[in-house]
Amino acid sequence: MTGPTLKGCRCQCVACGEYFGSERAFDRHRVGDYAEPGQWRGTRRCLLLAEMMAAGWQRSARGFLLQPDPRRAGAGDAGPRVTLPAMEVAP
Ligand SMILES: [Zn+2]
Repeated sequence: MTGPTLKGCRCQCVACGEYFGSERAFDRHRVGDYAEPGQWRGTRRCLLLAEMMAAGWQRSARGFLLQPDPRRAGAGDAGPRVTLPAMEVAP
């Protein structure tokens, strides 16, 4: 066993092999819908690591992926968190 120790609510996804710091984080990395009756399969899949990183996920020092809770971060809907891209000036 070389990976992080799994205990408590920490879990490893059997589909993509990533480790998650909480069940909620694990749930959030699964996107898409389950198959409807009659459908061959749904669109349920794992987020790619690049997609998670782009969405602000972070990997803890122990190797667990976590999506920072926006409420805990205090960002909320109070205003834009990102700097708007600079205007392109025509020559
Ligand atoms: Zn996964």
